[in-house]
Amino acid sequence: MKILIELIYLISSIFFIFGIKNLSSPKTARKGNLYASIGMLLAIVVTLFDQHVLTFEWIIIGMVTGGLIGTVMAIKVQMTGMPQMVGLLNGFGGGASALVALSEYFKITPAITTDTGVAIVLSLLIGSVTFTGSLIAFGKLQGIVTGRVVKYPLQHPLNALLVLVVLAAGAYIVVNPDMPEFLLMIVGISLVLGVLLVLPIGGADMPVAISLLNSYSGIAAATTGFVLENNQLIIAGALVGASGFILTMIMCRGMNRSLMNVVLGGWASAGIEGPAAVSAAHKGTVKSVDAEELAMLLDSVSSVIFVPGYGMAVAQAQHAVRDLMNVLEKKGVKVRFAIHPVAGRMPGHMNVLLAEAQVEYDKLYAMEDINDDFPNTDVAIIIGANDVVNPAARHDQSSPIYGMPILNVDYAKTVVINKRSLNVGYAGIDNELFFYPNALMYFGDAKEAMVKLANELKNL
Ligand code: NDP
Repeated sequence: MKILIELIYLISSIFFIFGIKNLSSPKTARKGNLYASIGMLLAIVVTLFDQHVLTFEWIIIGMVTGGLIGTVMAIKVQMTGMPQMVGLLNGFGGGASALVALSEYFKITPAITTDTGVAIVLSLLIGSVTFTGSLIAFGKLQGIVTGRVVKYPLQHPLNALLVLVVLAAGAYIVVNPDMPEFLLMIVGISLVLGVLLVLPIGGADMPVAISLLNSYSGIAAATTGFVLENNQLIIAGALVGASGFILTMIMCRGMNRSLMNVVLGGWASAGIEGPAAVSAAHKGTVKSVDAEELAMLLDSVSSVIFVPGYGMAVAQAQHAVRDLMNVLEKKGVKVRFAIHPVAGRMPGHMNVLLAEAQVEYDKLYAMEDINDDFPNTDVAIIIGANDVVNPAARHDQSSPIYGMPILNVDYAKTVVINKRSLNVGYAGIDNELFFYPNALMYFGDAKEAMVKLANELKNL
């Protein structure tokens, strides 16, 4: 029986590995999701039959309640609210790992071996930090908690001290297991640490923080796997931890942030004052165009780069953009899409939307592959993007996005910016691009604006 169970765990792990492999490309992502789900189903069923931890009544009550809440959340959440939801789920993962480790402690104390003791302490530390850190990240993305860079006195010495206290208390418990007060103190301090580490991270750096918390939730699960001596949990947790970490590194590179900056909680967040302190310092006027004028301009060009952003997702304009692309291509225009790594509100957000609208993958270019082509491009059309094309990132050291690589849209001969107003984007800062001599504002909801433009262009 034991061998059969381990064998099914192994098969489930293989499903996880193939799942992650397939998730790494939009073409195979659906298949990857399916493989990972099958792996998870196998793991759950086997664990339920193997562990006999509770009566099935309790397990069914838990599954139905959790399943219902999850279903309602998944149905209700807007595509644009996905990062918050992912953030929240990371937190629940970390919290669940900590709770399991805690209950295991009370179940087996005082007969705790050194390695189990170490695993319990690590699981409580990482799981609790992930839980409250993710709640703060959720609050920041949802606008409940300030998106500004929050600085507090003695930030780093205080955090270092708290970590040291947790480690010292942890070491004490490993040697003297029967000390539940110390264990609860570790949980309490770790919960506070989660808040203190994520609070300082400014809005513009949140994508990196979310993927790091995702990695933490995997590591917490893996350490809980050691507590329970469950190989499947160790493997699944390690996969989540490693892939979350790789994503974090990719995001750090995309935003030109050091990993330590995020791990240590806004150690060197650019723009000390945060978005809200940046004033509307722009002078001059913007030039705006309507659909008819823009269609006339586009009728005589040979190359266009679309730059989608969060506004395209809000307006669900991807199908209208695809139609406009078709019209332009019929007129012999070379059309490409430039995708910034943090455009939208989650990694791969723009790729997912454009794939849904059946825009071919080979038309989508990562920032580093297309940035040098803007000077040879007639028109860059920005659709609901703002921060990812803000030139302040190149030169304004007080800006929260300073140092983040941006798409060089301003190097194109003409830049057309479609959005509803001159309002700020996620980072809360003005965009000088709107005032550049080669910039044309095309105001309006992205979907309506793209439909109108395509119709005007068709009639020429
Ligand atoms: P921004 O958030 O900078 O800007 C989006 C713009 O879209 C707004 O300025 C808004 O202007 C416009 N907009 C909103 N609704 C519409 C609409 N219906 N039609 C047309 N335009 C609309 O988006 P970007 O994609 O440029 O940048 C992403 C930002 O989000 C970055 O700061 C990034 O750090 C952050 N972020 C990214 C995450 C990720 O994983 N990708 C996760 C969390 C945060 P107006 O109101 O004038 O229309």
